[in-house]
Amino acid sequence: LAAEEGFEAAEVDSELAKGSGRLPVLAVIGRPNVGKSTLVNRILGRREAVVEDRPGVTRDRVTYQAEWAGRRFKVVDTGGWEQDVLGIEASVAAQAEFAIEAADAVVFVVDASVGATDTDENMVRLLRRTGKPVVLCANKVDGPSGEADAAALWSLGVGEPHPVSALHGRGTGDLLDAVLRAMPEAPPETFSVAPGGPRRIALIGRPNVGKSSLLNKVAGEERVVVNELAGTTRDPVDEVVELGGKPWVFVDTAGIRRRTHLQAGADYYASLRTAAALEKAEAAVVLIDASDTISVQDTRILTMAVEAGRALVIAYNKWDTLDEERRHYLEREIERDLAQVRWAPRVNISAATGRHLDKLVPALERALEGWQTRVPTGKLNSFLGELVAAHPHPVRGGKQPRILFGTQAGARPPRFVLFATGFLEAGYRRFIERRLREEFGFEGTPIHLSVRVRE
Ligand code: GDP
Ligand code: GDP
Repeated sequence: LAAEEGFEAAEVDSELAKGSGRLPVLAVIGRPNVGKSTLVNRILGRREAVVEDRPGVTRDRVTYQAEWAGRRFKVVDTGGWEQDVLGIEASVAAQAEFAIEAADAVVFVVDASVGATDTDENMVRLLRRTGKPVVLCANKVDGPSGEADAAALWSLGVGEPHPVSALHGRGTGDLLDAVLRAMPEAPPETFSVAPGGPRRIALIGRPNVGKSSLLNKVAGEERVVVNELAGTTRDPVDEVVELGGKPWVFVDTAGIRRRTHLQAGADYYASLRTAAALEKAEAAVVLIDASDTISVQDTRILTMAVEAGRALVIAYNKWDTLDEERRHYLEREIERDLAQVRWAPRVNISAATGRHLDKLVPALERALEGWQTRVPTGKLNSFLGELVAAHPHPVRGGKQPRILFGTQAGARPPRFVLFATGFLEAGYRRFIERRLREEFGFEGTPIHLSVRVRE
């Protein structure tokens, strides 16, 4: 096999995986001991196998880079994921779910010498639900005598079983050919973020809040970086601005410059522009005119930023015009209308006078840091354990849902998945989110919390 010797270890991250120019991701799933790690090693062409002869060997989730028939892709090994936390059954399902979520195609490994087990059947149901392309690997078919065992796996209903001996390499070429056929040629692109490159900021807000004034102020006074920045794809509509000694890309600024709001159909185009800018950005600066009552339009734009899953900074502009009374009412409006985004860093600025513009960068940096924070699974679960012991879910109808286990399934923004024995009420989910923020920060970032119920 033509494979890359060097591998990059990276956490499975479906957000990152959605970045542009990315390689398709292949997840190798299956219950413990079916030979997943052996197969991954085989795909990578590494001779020294990192396999041990017992289940439950905890390893980090890793993504490797591989190549077959001239096509490069990533392989996610799910072997040895946190198998002791919930007991084998639930944890295998959990591992598989995370891997599948982040993958473009899945190799489902079954031990043909054992045949289909209940766990295998459960995984098939899971695979069906996700709708990802599946290639069935009938492993441990070390010789022709095992072919019949492989054929028996047609009964799983996930298509043709490919007889493979991961250990000896038999059939792995045919398997990989099938994988390439199943995998998309190029995964959909969103935006490109070069690691360590300039951060991408969407400057949004309803018409007349001061977007173009702010852009002129920061782009006008600071040196505008004109040379091409390494590793940045930059649309002509984006502007690179140096702030706090670092370049920042303000995305989709043409709409701001063009002052579309002066034309007919302004609202419609303004909201299209907002959506487009959010799509390309990592963080949003939402401008609010502090001199004016907070409006439905303001909250709608904030909601768009939160739902787009971007880091968020709220900038109250035109601070130079505020008197004592207005300031008082503003605080009350914020308390009343913007409680949902209390976690977002706030700056009180004036694009006209330049007041507190130096606070913008530190606020953005805090927000982006929260946005990409990862909580290790162990730490998260000891936190959850204490939290649940001190504040159990209220008993409803004689039942009390318990949280079994949680994991951060992704970052940018942080996404948590909790496994529970029953439905968790919205109030309790909000309580958990609040405590997560208290414990781990997450300033300036939305948090996604989803609950999977395990019977
Ligand atoms: P995982 O838990 O699914 O990652 O399984 P491993 O890759 O750790 O393999 C479990 C055991 O099965 C190890 O002892 C492997 O040597 C063995 N094994 C893996 N693939 C094959 C195969 O194709 N044939 C045979 N005979 N044994 C295999
Ligand atoms: P945009 O529609 O969001 O791009 O808003 P503009 O930048 O065009 O600003 C709308 C109006 O508000 C203009 O008349 C600006 O001069 C004024 N403006 C913008 N920022 C400030 C500020 O900080 N203070 C004051 N007093 N006026 C401002």
